[in-house]
Amino acid sequence: MPELPEVEITVRRLDAALEGAEVESAVAPGMNVMKTFEPPLEALAGKSISGLRRIGKMPVVEFGDVALLIHLMSAGRLRLSDKRVSPKDRASRVLVRLVDGRELRLREYGTKQRAWAKLLPVGEVAVDEMVATLGPEAWPPPPLEDFAELIDQPRHLHPLLRHQRDIAGIGRSWVDEILWEARLSPFKQGTELGAGEIERLHGALHVLGDAIEHYEETIGEKLPEKLPMPLRVHKREGEPCPRCGTTIEAVFFAEHQTNYCPAEQTGGRVLKDRRLSRLLK
Ligand SMILES: [Zn+2]
Repeated sequence: MPELPEVEITVRRLDAALEGAEVESAVAPGMNVMKTFEPPLEALAGKSISGLRRIGKMPVVEFGDVALLIHLMSAGRLRLSDKRVSPKDRASRVLVRLVDGRELRLREYGTKQRAWAKLLPVGEVAVDEMVATLGPEAWPPPPLEDFAELIDQPRHLHPLLRHQRDIAGIGRSWVDEILWEARLSPFKQGTELGAGEIERLHGALHVLGDAIEHYEETIGEKLPEKLPMPLRVHKREGEPCPRCGTTIEAVFFAEHQTNYCPAEQTGGRVLKDRRLSRLLK
């Protein structure tokens, strides 16, 4: 699941590899992937890639006066290949074929087609509703006062930190790491935090920067198909907490899970597994 650190290293590597590359053609084998129709994707032919950047969890590929804004959702990946993908590849969503034979691919794993892209005049990216409604970037973190204000809501920290309109870039994996680093319960509400806890949570955003550094050190020029995420608590239920040795617990939801250290985050309480409670009702 690509979040801020994964998208950041992806655009850094692709930017270095693709700057100036000329487009031969662009197609969208993903039936519903393109959310805009004007300019058409075919308009990319003959243009050159001028750069890649990141907004929240979204990569942006710029081609001079137009830009492709991409939302990877949970299973999309943007990768560069030395050769062209087979027309039978069912994971292909958008293919940008380059004159030099390489191909920039947006592919999506699994059965669901959720990833999307918009081709926009470059000046319209900032005013696109998905971009204009984003909260401040989670890394580098916003100033403490701004963070204290955005977190001051009667909502659980887990969904609050993942809500892109409040703060951009955090998803289901890194939220667990940030809350663990801050020693805060995922079920504590924003309004329940004291000044010291807000400071701790704000300080814990450094795990995103640490992850980017980790990727910079471990990933070479070529991005692997799947990035090995340096997670310490997410999806590690049953394993010892790397800090205190207590068994990491999990709460499962329909499409995601949250992991935490009961000793350090919930005052020793093991939270009810909502999936299990629902079955028992
Ligand atoms: Zn612990």
